[in-house]
Amino acid sequence: MSTQTRSGAKGTSQGGAAGAATSAGGYVGSSARMAAISAVTNYKPLSEPLNFIDTPTSEIFGCNVFNKAVMKNRLPKPVFKALVKTIESGEKLDPAIADVVASAMKDWAIEKGATHYAHVFFPLTGLTAEKHDSFLSPDGDGGALAEFTGKQLIQGEPDGSSFPTGGIRATFEARGYTIWDVTSPAYILENPNGTTLCIPTAFVSWTGEALDKKTPLLRSMQALNKQAQRVLKLFGETDGAFVASTAGPEQEYFLVDRHFFFARPDLLTAGRTLFGAKPPKGQEFEDHYFGAIPERVLAFMLETERELFKLGVPVKTRHNEVAPAQYEIAPVFESANLANDHQQLIMITLRRVAEKYGMACLTHEKPFANINGSGKHVNWSLGSASQGNLLDPGDTPHDNAQFLVFCAAVLRAVKKYQGLLRAVVATAGNDHRLGANEAPPAIISIFLGDQLADVFEQIKKGGASSSKKGGTMEVGVDVLPPMPKDAGDRNRTSPFAFTGNRFEFRAVGANQSIAGPLVAMNTIVAESLDYCATQLEKATGGDASKLNAAVQKLLTEISTEAAPIIFNGDGYSDAWHQEAAKRGLLNLKNSVDALPVLEQKEIKELFEKYGVLNERELTSRFEIYLEQYCKTVYSEANLTLEMAKTMIFPASIRYQNELASTCANLKLVGYEFDTDTLDKVTELVKSLQDSIGVLNMALGKVSHGGGAHKAAEYCASDLLPAMSMVRKYADELESWVADDLWPLPTYQEMLFIK
Ligand code: ADP
Ligand code: MG
Repeated sequence: MSTQTRSGAKGTSQGGAAGAATSAGGYVGSSARMAAISAVTNYKPLSEPLNFIDTPTSEIFGCNVFNKAVMKNRLPKPVFKALVKTIESGEKLDPAIADVVASAMKDWAIEKGATHYAHVFFPLTGLTAEKHDSFLSPDGDGGALAEFTGKQLIQGEPDGSSFPTGGIRATFEARGYTIWDVTSPAYILENPNGTTLCIPTAFVSWTGEALDKKTPLLRSMQALNKQAQRVLKLFGETDGAFVASTAGPEQEYFLVDRHFFFARPDLLTAGRTLFGAKPPKGQEFEDHYFGAIPERVLAFMLETERELFKLGVPVKTRHNEVAPAQYEIAPVFESANLANDHQQLIMITLRRVAEKYGMACLTHEKPFANINGSGKHVNWSLGSASQGNLLDPGDTPHDNAQFLVFCAAVLRAVKKYQGLLRAVVATAGNDHRLGANEAPPAIISIFLGDQLADVFEQIKKGGASSSKKGGTMEVGVDVLPPMPKDAGDRNRTSPFAFTGNRFEFRAVGANQSIAGPLVAMNTIVAESLDYCATQLEKATGGDASKLNAAVQKLLTEISTEAAPIIFNGDGYSDAWHQEAAKRGLLNLKNSVDALPVLEQKEIKELFEKYGVLNERELTSRFEIYLEQYCKTVYSEANLTLEMAKTMIFPASIRYQNELASTCANLKLVGYEFDTDTLDKVTELVKSLQDSIGVLNMALGKVSHGGGAHKAAEYCASDLLPAMSMVRKYADELESWVADDLWPLPTYQEMLFIK
């Protein structure tokens, strides 16, 4: 290995950013950090202050959205009515109206400064993709006309050949199509140099197979509606109002100064630190959580929110999170499809606006080892315009019985498909978070709260005469006690919690698209509602007077079946891991263990039966997610090797050399020199060098034959442990090597200088 890297050059050439204070020879050692710190402390806002007095938020909200109000204003009545029908009750769109809508949309967009339109879609990478086209078409006389036809609105053909398809398109042909999603409104994306009309779309292959995250989400919502209607019908609710799943995702993220970000090749390319010793002061004081928000951060939040308001994203909550430099943003819940599109916009906007304020927004699940990671709690429920929230316990026996059936359906679904729920949150990034004592464990269980747990416990006992007020609850006769919303004991250790009128899926990673988890939730609950409806239909045979008894019987049965998944205790404790094993719950520790669930027969049948994903579509996802996992680990392993070789090793031997020459010089003039530090550093340098060798060998053995799962197994069994070893010695060296020689910004600096 060459040890002749020019002093500190890598830290700055890779980082390239630290801006000021570059001396002729570039940065030496920690001068990159000093430049960053000076930039942080001398920070001045780049943009004019926002003025919410002249333009109140109520005027801003939705101003860039082609929403219902705009459509009502600009579309002929019959066209407007037809569109609303499709949006609100999921009815098929009449393609004949597309030309009219397109023309109105174009006029509106051009009035707002748009020059281009873009079909926006969500490929399986989990990112957002756009293809921009100009409105202008040559008019044949040397001029150009602004044009936007119904056909252009409805369908596009991006050159999507480089998006992962898991073999779906290779077998047929390379073409993929984007199809207008009428249920998610078009919007204008602003840029200082012009604006773009954005049209949310589904992305499908020539054969109609889903190449994206939106298509299965829409299909799963339809499946859920269909089964929910059957249950509602049994309760005499027959208006048919579309039952949609609703979602409210809480996004956690970190902010670090951009100078630090650019001086860390790992943050820049992997989104997380691959090295970094624990700071002397971590989060143990919890003084950051809900503390005062620093001014620059608050300014960033205000602008982020304003941008999101313009796009009609109903962001509501902002606060500091548990870890230093960690924050959260949460919108008011919406229909799942819209919530998903808006969630993608939230992530994009956070990153874009952070740059303007001289910061980088990190949405990785675990940017800093030993510091809390970031999740995305996905609050989930289902409801309709006429029924309201179906997971809200009402205050009459009728409502209660209906609520209990829907709630039981969720319990049954989560118990039966716990493996699937684990699989849809399995990513390389989330592996660092799940099961670490700060995020939910990898074991899926449900927190119901004492009260609801007690209700199901009573129901389970059926006619037995124990518990409350001397008798058990009889469904359809008794009224539930009011459920505490946001109860004090918000068990944070549970991956799946009932929180008064919804379930909160907390194992989802901060960097993930929420579409996968939503598709899973919708589909497994559709299956459970199907089961409930079938049982109840059979038992009542159309005779409504038999409903109460049938519901009682069904609930007793489900309470018994689902009992093992209910756990109100501490999910972090070892005792729970043992107890969960006894209960037969799955404990799929990492992505390599969890992803193969997607290949199970039961899962294939589930998705096929409800028309959400056919076998090929599901298999393609399995392969793509494994591939993504491998790619992530490969690139992190390569980066670990490179940083260790070219940044950390050189800094360490430079310090070693300094110690050695001090020792030699002192000896020359007759002093004894205590070599303890030199010994320690020498030992660590040796270990670092050895571990670099091991990682290098492990990378050399990466083989691409043998299939994606084999490759992923190798990542987990060999690459990740080899990376950890390199990190271990590097982090130890960080606490010995002279600060002015250390080439990377430290945790201390990144987390506490804001
Ligand atoms: P906490 O951090 O205490 O869990 P927040 O207020 O930050 O709570 O977030 C709660 C989230 O739950 C919000 O996004 C909210 O809109 C969402 N939510 C509330 N009711 C529903 C519902 N019926 N369906 C889906 N999400 C919901
Ligand atoms: Mg929450």
